[in-house]
Amino acid sequence: MQVTPLSDGFGRVATDLRVSLTDRCNLRCSYCMPAEGLDWLPGETVLTDDEVVRLITIGVERLGITEVRFTGGEPLVRRGLVDIVARTHALGVETMLTTNGLGLARTAGALAEAGLDRINVSIDSIRPETFAAVTRRDRLHDVVDGLEAAKAAGLGPVKLNAVLLRGVNDDQAPELLDWAIAAGYQLRFIEQMPLDAQHGWSRAEMITAEEIQVRLEKEFSLEPAGEPRGSAPAELFLVDGGPATVGIIASVTRPFCGDCDRVRLTADGQVRNCLFAREESDLRTAMRAGASDEELAERWVVAMAGKRAGHGIDDPTFLQPSRPMSAIGG
Ligand code: SAM
Ligand code: SF4
Repeated sequence: MQVTPLSDGFGRVATDLRVSLTDRCNLRCSYCMPAEGLDWLPGETVLTDDEVVRLITIGVERLGITEVRFTGGEPLVRRGLVDIVARTHALGVETMLTTNGLGLARTAGALAEAGLDRINVSIDSIRPETFAAVTRRDRLHDVVDGLEAAKAAGLGPVKLNAVLLRGVNDDQAPELLDWAIAAGYQLRFIEQMPLDAQHGWSRAEMITAEEIQVRLEKEFSLEPAGEPRGSAPAELFLVDGGPATVGIIASVTRPFCGDCDRVRLTADGQVRNCLFAREESDLRTAMRAGASDEELAERWVVAMAGKRAGHGIDDPTFLQPSRPMSAIGG
């Protein structure tokens, strides 16, 4: 079958597909959603397992997608996850998952058997009370159990994602890194982005990549890890001479849009060419109206061609997307 690359007007080609499997979540991280949760997508608008796999197959076979990452919301709350992973793995692409880890202790083995290649687990603190303050749920023990199960199931090297919030957990970066290294996980800090449903993000309040580095350097020596970064968002540092590393993802202060190779599919079947895109392309309605694979691929190509050069968070005209991170798929 002929492959049409998902190119945009700036010479970038998307090969990394992020698939949101649900907008629902069992945590309420304050940088992501309000305490009361959100108005979830109506069930009938959410793609079925077969519809998700059909669109992924089009992406892989016709559009050159080589990596698929499942996210959400919380992908582990999606009942068909293991089957979707197995069917995606069978397409011969790298298959990954970003999760908060709740319930991972039960499913890690099945996910590994289904062919999951890699896993990222979010954990913002290793102190139960701070974890509960950030996520509004007292579930740190579940995350730690899930991480151990992932390691035991052979899903390593497990990566950890952490967001630092001023006055909440920003003093805990070194202890989180110490703990991650001792347990054999690869920690990456992500700058907080304006993607929360309640629009509470502020440029002045966010902890910058530079601050994270300064805080870590009080306790560790960091030197840039030599390997080329390519399209990977994390800048990697060797900790105390290595081999342990830490990553810093400076999405706001040192954007990497020029090297972006990502495209997103929401749980309700919309293609988004950027996390911060304000337009979406509705593949669900077209698919349910009987569009062929070729027609769906054509729509997808058009959606990608209009990708903007960058997110423009620092631009005075910047507008936060109307959908929050949990609905887009982080
Ligand atoms: N629920 C899963 C989880 O938390 O890993 C997957 C979805 S979550 C939206 C994906 C990642 O986005 C998590 O690592 C989370 O910490 C991060 N995230 C959510 N809101 C964010 C924000 N406003 N700025 C930066 N990262 C954010
Ligand atoms: Fe849920 Fe992930 Fe958002 Fe936290 S960051 S509320 S775990 S979707």
